[in-house]
Amino acid sequence: MDAAGSVVRGDLLVRDGRIAALGDAVPAALAALPGGRAEQALDASGCFVLPGLVHGHLHLCQTLFRGLAEQSDLLRWLRESIWPLEAAHTEASIAAAARLGLAELVAGGVTCVNDMGTVRHADSLGAVYEETGIRATFGKALMDQGQGVPAGLRESARDALDSALALAARWHGAAGGRLRVSLAPRFILSCSEGLWHGVAAAAAERGLMVHTHLAESPTEAREVESAVASTSALYFARHGVLSGRFVGAHGVWLDDEELGLLSRAGAALVHCPGSNLKLGSGFANVRRWKQAGIRRGLGSDGAACDNRLDTFHEMGMAANLARALEPADPLTAREVLALATCEGARALGLDDVGVLEAGKQADVAVVDHTGPHVAPNETHDPYVTLVHAARASDVRLTMVAGRVLYRDGAWATLDPERAVAEARAEARGLVRRAGMA
Ligand SMILES: [Zn+2]
Repeated sequence: MDAAGSVVRGDLLVRDGRIAALGDAVPAALAALPGGRAEQALDASGCFVLPGLVHGHLHLCQTLFRGLAEQSDLLRWLRESIWPLEAAHTEASIAAAARLGLAELVAGGVTCVNDMGTVRHADSLGAVYEETGIRATFGKALMDQGQGVPAGLRESARDALDSALALAARWHGAAGGRLRVSLAPRFILSCSEGLWHGVAAAAAERGLMVHTHLAESPTEAREVESAVASTSALYFARHGVLSGRFVGAHGVWLDDEELGLLSRAGAALVHCPGSNLKLGSGFANVRRWKQAGIRRGLGSDGAACDNRLDTFHEMGMAANLARALEPADPLTAREVLALATCEGARALGLDDVGVLEAGKQADVAVVDHTGPHVAPNETHDPYVTLVHAARASDVRLTMVAGRVLYRDGAWATLDPERAVAEARAEARGLVRRAGMA
């Protein structure tokens, strides 16, 4: 996924957590090592070796809600199910949701996530991110108003910002720089004007990313219009929220003027086609985002609105949706893989992941291409095989910063059977506390 679009047949050498050399440069780099050889060799024959997949928009706390929120309307889904469930979370249930989600994501080749979190227990999320070894940007959702927001999720603007900044003081740059903290105002309908001002000022002062949702569904757009007499992007522009550190999920209903505002500010958007289709929100046109010069990534959103945390599934949907929207100029398979690798990393402001190049972080996914569902592919375009045929279950190895987190069904830092058992027990308690049993 380098700028030249190289496809290299050969080896990849990793040293001290970074990519030391690849392809033709490997023999000389190996010869320069003490003893002239690598400490460990991993066999990737019959596989594609890719930059680890970058998941641009996630709510790991919602993994326990999978199958519990099946409304096909964003605002009803939030008010009737998601917010009451989030309000019922404890430290233990958040940790269980995070481990369950990461067991799925890491085995699916994901090495980097951008998680909005919920209002409370974000430290619990940080602890799971630290222990599992994945690269993560996470926050605590900021909510200080809004119809249907339960008391357990509503804070004053001051408390919301203070606790987000305290979270950043504890976790931003932690685990050797693997973890970052963002400011995560949920969306316009749940945040007061004062909170948006505070977010804009704090993000500029501390250099933190702003992670939010915008222009997701038509009913949301109508409620935003009646609440603030503006579209989302225009509102953000007027309140100084748009910048090169802005990452907005969905952007389904942005018009050309709004795309221009986002582009001029250097803001990024994250495409979540599975969530948009399942919630009945609409069809985001990523070709138009690209034409407007907007940085862009790909995400599956939470497991309550997709219900898979599976980047391969998401890539296939993104590719086919782009064909239906722009039959004459669809996204190519390489452009779609870029959303989940190099472009997705750029959208999150990460310039040393998403590409296999000497000096970059050794965040790697190894994907088997010998199964019957991807054959024959020896002479085919590898991007087409990966985007249109490969599955998450084809991932054989996932590495973050040179550390193998998953290999051939074995997790280094997670026990998936325990994660599932813990998730089942915690989900039962959560549903009871939310009054949904
Ligand atoms: Zn979301």
